[in-house]
Amino acid sequence: MKFNFPAVTFVRENTAAAQFQHVHSECHEVAFELLENRVTAADLEMMDLLHSSESYFRIRMAEMGPEYLRVLMDTVMQKNLTRGYYGECRCACMVVPGFGFVPEMGCPVHDGEE
Ligand SMILES: [Zn+2]
Repeated sequence: MKFNFPAVTFVRENTAAAQFQHVHSECHEVAFELLENRVTAADLEMMDLLHSSESYFRIRMAEMGPEYLRVLMDTVMQKNLTRGYYGECRCACMVVPGFGFVPEMGCPVHDGEE
């Protein structure tokens, strides 16, 4: 799994359950800022939430290994692909275990995506 943020020191100190508490508190901060109509502040808290979520998965990766996270990601992507959450197409776009989502070259919906 590619992380966007550097590892924080809590990754070595927190249990996954303790890190989840932090993720949960970030959710409340986003909700509070949105209720106050402070969209930029809410966006900052959302970015904090992403960072905190990545820290959760760094802790789980240390416990379970990187392959475990790849399987989780592939499982979620396969589920969402089946549900059409990535858009409907009649191409051979698929989730390849270990590689993630692989769009077919020329797919009008998925080719050229990051
Ligand atoms: Zn496609």
